[in-house]
Amino acid sequence: MFGDKVLIDKDKKGNTRPWKEKKIDNLTYAEYLYLLQVYKATRVEKCGNILTFKETEKGLKLHQTWFCKSRLCPLCAWRYTMKNSYELSSILNLFYKRNPKSRFLFLTLTERNAPQGELKETLTEMNRSLYKLFKYKKVKKDLLGYVRSTEITVNRERKDYHQHVHVLLAVSSSYFKKGHYLSQNDWSILWQKARKLDYKPVVNIKIVSESEKDKSLVAGAKEVAKYQVKSSDYLTDDVEGDLEFLEELEKALFHKRQLSFGGEFKEIRKELKLEEREDDLVHIDGKEDEESSESVKQVVYIWNNSVKNYVNWVD
Ligand SMILES: [Zn+2]
Repeated sequence: MFGDKVLIDKDKKGNTRPWKEKKIDNLTYAEYLYLLQVYKATRVEKCGNILTFKETEKGLKLHQTWFCKSRLCPLCAWRYTMKNSYELSSILNLFYKRNPKSRFLFLTLTERNAPQGELKETLTEMNRSLYKLFKYKKVKKDLLGYVRSTEITVNRERKDYHQHVHVLLAVSSSYFKKGHYLSQNDWSILWQKARKLDYKPVVNIKIVSESEKDKSLVAGAKEVAKYQVKSSDYLTDDVEGDLEFLEELEKALFHKRQLSFGGEFKEIRKELKLEEREDDLVHIDGKEDEESSESVKQVVYIWNNSVKNYVNWVD
């Protein structure tokens, strides 16, 4: 039966983890899927209903639950973001240790907004073009590794989508030599060619300075790892609009990866066995429970719809 304690789960910095808020959004999302008659709605509704934690000295540690793993599920998207950010930092750290002379670049590639009804196709083409871009000799010769993520923002007024790509690139120091270096304009020309556009796209390239490498890389990893689509873009007070955009986003993101890796980043990811744990949203820091199960107390919290919060469960 339900106890009298509501869930309070704090991170290392003392901030309360937003379980309750994410679960409330998850239920709105599930309701929308029912309205759209999307088959997985019943699964989504059950996402994260029962949370089992271990009570450790450092606070609660999630031990067991069931996540629906839907890209647009606010609960799962939140877990994916933390997981991606952790994964990327591990990859970048190891890469940097092995290639201390390498340099990092942040590249943002944009194009004109995709109209309603064309998002899926546009994203497929975009990924294909990106693959092509990295094969160009000018890019390839100094490229050591990359990770790309796709981000979509909804423009409600214009009823279209701003789809763009963030890439974190690692290049060898020869990139800065004469004849190797690519300016913002060069990148724009190359992207136009790869993407077969009849206009010059807006491209942004930022070089991570040597002195700020540590700080910027963490920030960059977070930027690349963040939400693919913010839930506030499709969960608003305007239900009719939400349903229209959500239907398009669901179709467009089906079977598409949020992150993809190339070069040495890809190899390190394999080496660290991160690929195998891709869908483990419970142990997001890659660590299985270290404490033996006997000595550590477990606590169970269950979603209680009447109080709209997680409440502890007592036998
Ligand atoms: Zn979920």
